[in-house]
Amino acid sequence: MTSLTAATAARSSASSEHSLVVEDLRVHYDTPEGVIKAVDGVSLALKPGERLALVGESGSGKSTLAMALMRLTKAPGRIVAGHIYLGGKDITLLEEPEMRQLRLNEIALVPQGAMNSLNPVMRVKHQIIDGILDHVADRKQTPDSHELEERVNRLLARVGLSPEVGRMFPHELSGGMKQRVAMAIAISLSPRVIVADEPTSALDVVVQRQIMQTLGRLQQGLDAAVILIGHDMGLVAQFANRVGVMYAGKLVELGPVQQIFTEPLHPYTKLLIESLPNLEEKKKFIGIPGLPPTLLRLPSGCVFHPRCPSFIKGTCETVAPHYQEVRPERETSCHLYAGVRA
Ligand code: ATP
Ligand code: SF4
Repeated sequence: MTSLTAATAARSSASSEHSLVVEDLRVHYDTPEGVIKAVDGVSLALKPGERLALVGESGSGKSTLAMALMRLTKAPGRIVAGHIYLGGKDITLLEEPEMRQLRLNEIALVPQGAMNSLNPVMRVKHQIIDGILDHVADRKQTPDSHELEERVNRLLARVGLSPEVGRMFPHELSGGMKQRVAMAIAISLSPRVIVADEPTSALDVVVQRQIMQTLGRLQQGLDAAVILIGHDMGLVAQFANRVGVMYAGKLVELGPVQQIFTEPLHPYTKLLIESLPNLEEKKKFIGIPGLPPTLLRLPSGCVFHPRCPSFIKGTCETVAPHYQEVRPERETSCHLYAGVRA
């Protein structure tokens, strides 16, 4: 482990203060063209009730990280190193049957595009019931059908849906309703961690806001920690307490949301924020110059250097910056802050 932050995370994993601790996690895809390091040494920690948003351009490794947290990484992907502590237990060491019991009970996913995660030929209530029954740890505590029906209705009400929705098939629901059903399934066993992977992609702006409000309410009710994955900085800013910025498989900056927006440290974060459309100034969306690197052939030194307006000739092309805490609660990897310690 190289970074101060990873060391901090490792220490906190020993305590019960955090719901989730990720320590130097690495997820690779083995492809015929070579190894893609989609998650390359990510460390972070979340306390109960915390909301962390992870942002970054397409291909920066956000979804790969989300799947790894659920231990749902599929071939050719594999977790090659690191640890994920859920309530103090390292889930990277668990066999699948044990992990299966933890999903929904301890950690749940609100997936990207619920239409693909719901079974098209099954009524909503049966999908919710299946989720519950699949993950009841003690079979003797299996609820009876009346109890299950009541539970489904309560869950639907919590996500703002009427009991009638339970009798419907996914194709009879709007995109927003499907996403609400996915949220009902995710909270059905009161997990301590919710991973929401772009929960509002493909929804219109008004529905997006409503879904985020519902997610926020559910999270508060459970005092769950939430990792929200997204690339819309504006949307995540309204939801999160902290923001982590990913670039080419690495976390390049992490800090409280307000501070990230008013004083971003990493040049990539600055560009992400500057590229946000600003209605008051009628600023045009400009995007970030250049393209994200292909993870098969990463640039030398700082992987962001070919696109960085602040790059330091010589150093940035040859030396990879360390990810470190540069001020209280502020972490970044950039040579501009070399020698600065919190
Ligand atoms: P998006 O916002 O588009 O969902 P992302 O930030 O979530 O992007 P990932 O989907 O995690 O990024 O992808 C990270 C990298 O891993 C990309 O380079 C992608 O091409 C690669 N990758 C993802 N899935 C696979 C796979 N099944 N096989 C090979 N490479 C993959
Ligand atoms: Fe830019 Fe250098 Fe900082 Fe990388 S290390 S973000 S190239 S200034």
